[in-house]
Amino acid sequence: MKWRSTKRSSNVDDRRGQSSGRGFSGGSGLAGMLIPLILKLVSTKKGLIIVAVVGLLMYFSGINPLQFLSGGSTNQIQNTNYKGTASENELAEFSNRVLRSTEDVWNNILNNYQEPKLVLFTNSVSSACGSASSATGPFYCPGDNQLYIDLSFFQEMETKLNAPGDFAQAYVIAHEVGHHIQNLMGTTDKMQQLRGRVSQKEYNQFSVKLELQADFLAGVWAHHAKNMNLIIDDGDLQEALNAAFAIGDDRLQKQSSGRVVPDSFTHGTSAQRMRWFKKGFETGDINQGDTFSSTTL
Ligand SMILES: [Zn+2]
Repeated sequence: MKWRSTKRSSNVDDRRGQSSGRGFSGGSGLAGMLIPLILKLVSTKKGLIIVAVVGLLMYFSGINPLQFLSGGSTNQIQNTNYKGTASENELAEFSNRVLRSTEDVWNNILNNYQEPKLVLFTNSVSSACGSASSATGPFYCPGDNQLYIDLSFFQEMETKLNAPGDFAQAYVIAHEVGHHIQNLMGTTDKMQQLRGRVSQKEYNQFSVKLELQADFLAGVWAHHAKNMNLIIDDGDLQEALNAAFAIGDDRLQKQSSGRVVPDSFTHGTSAQRMRWFKKGFETGDINQGDTFSSTTL
């Protein structure tokens, strides 16, 4: 891919090196010391005025006094010592440019496109969909409109999943953005409503359709990114098809348990994933991606 000369996105939230959790160390110790003092002060009229004035001064200087006492409201702990390896930083930079290309494409296709944020994390992260570890793999959370990726997944694609190449990585981001498009279009909500109303087997079938549509939307992105001369080179398509093949549920299941169990497929087989990505890539037309009413997947 030719990405080095392309534009950067401003929607990347780099949380690498941070661990999920609440507050920062020392906060509660500080509160433990100050609260008895404040209680003692407010019991006298003069003390009450002092507390009120200090509180107001803090407020007007931009510090929330309550937040100060509770140890801050941040739910991420900044690790300023974190330095990624050169290859990891390169992946972060690459992911940024890919996200930007999805913004350019989808802004062009959809009116009032709301751009999603991409959160880069290491080990674990908290999202509106709960906390997740790197083992979850890349995911999209409809609750906060954010994509979450631990960049080590890209290394895993190369070493364990046999899906090397930068376009294979871009495809993963474009697939998650596809889930964002589905969220904007209300498809994700419709899926949520089905939960508990249909059998697990039926729900899994709908889930496959949702995933294949995200693959299709990734293909639509690739189509337009190529036409808009954004980031794609000749030969990139083969890498994406290879990635779609490598991360099909049947192949992943064969790798993990040695046998294939079709009912538990939630992403679609390798052949299905390749087919829908290709359809999106060839047509570039979002109206061709109705995996839900399609009789053949
Ligand atoms: Zn997906």
